[in-house]
Amino acid sequence: MEIIETVEQMQKKSEALRLGGHTIALVPTMGFFHEGHLELMRVGKKLADKLIISIFVNPTQFGPTEDFGKYPRNTEGDFARAREVGVDIVFSPSVSEMYPEGFQTNVQVEKATQNLCGISRPVYFNGVTTVVAKLFNMTMPHLAVFGQKDYQQLMVISLMVTDLNMPIKIVPVPTVREPDGLAMSSRNSYLNPEERKSALCLKKSLDLADKMFQGGEKDVSVIKNVVVSLIQDHPFTDIDYVSLCDPVTFEDIKTLGEKNLLGLAVRVGKTRLIDNCLLQRVSN
Ligand code: AMP
Repeated sequence: MEIIETVEQMQKKSEALRLGGHTIALVPTMGFFHEGHLELMRVGKKLADKLIISIFVNPTQFGPTEDFGKYPRNTEGDFARAREVGVDIVFSPSVSEMYPEGFQTNVQVEKATQNLCGISRPVYFNGVTTVVAKLFNMTMPHLAVFGQKDYQQLMVISLMVTDLNMPIKIVPVPTVREPDGLAMSSRNSYLNPEERKSALCLKKSLDLADKMFQGGEKDVSVIKNVVVSLIQDHPFTDIDYVSLCDPVTFEDIKTLGEKNLLGLAVRVGKTRLIDNCLLQRVSN
């Protein structure tokens, strides 16, 4: 496994791989790997003959009061796990390599970023789309793999790729969960044992909402109220949003249609967790 830290070396390497006829998959990450990250890598490995992962904790997607400074890191452990999965190249640039003096360009997806995480994290999506566009130019992948755990991010990146005619296929991977249902996240490491128990309210409320939807409930406010009170019944929780929206435009809906997104962001103690599910009819 090769470790590359400069943009120049990364671009030379990717150009050579392309000239050699190889297909390239990219998995962008912020490191501190869990099974969710590894699953994305396994998918990338299957779909292309060279797998590049990036590890970069991107300062521009964190707000001033967010956890950039204490975001968990485990570089050596991450390298070991990436090696086990068969990653070919780890691209791990420094902040100054990514954002040299004078950097001033932004990629903005305008509408799909306005609701859900865009409300409480106003700089988040611009930071993500800009860094992902840069990573695409640095690694020149044929396809890039993203998790449905960050559903809005996945859709915003898909829109960017379509709107800017980037010749890259975006591959979604379903959310990987702990055995008890908690969506895996690097931020779960912040939770103490009591908070970890309470954090199960996210998945429990998604399951309950799905049950109500499958049972014929179509009224958004009825489902929302049940979800909100289930979460509030768990200690240490503070709801950022419970949103029922269109899964493409992310606009709020009043009545559930064929395919709906239920997105949640909940602070458990000081840790902000997100989860989501699509509410759509199960066909038998
Ligand atoms: P992060 O390192 O948290 O920025 O995540 C890097 C990639 O892993 C993103 O595409 C995430 O959506 C994806 N990811 C994070 N957690 C999970 C999970 N539990 N299941 C599937 N994908 C995930």
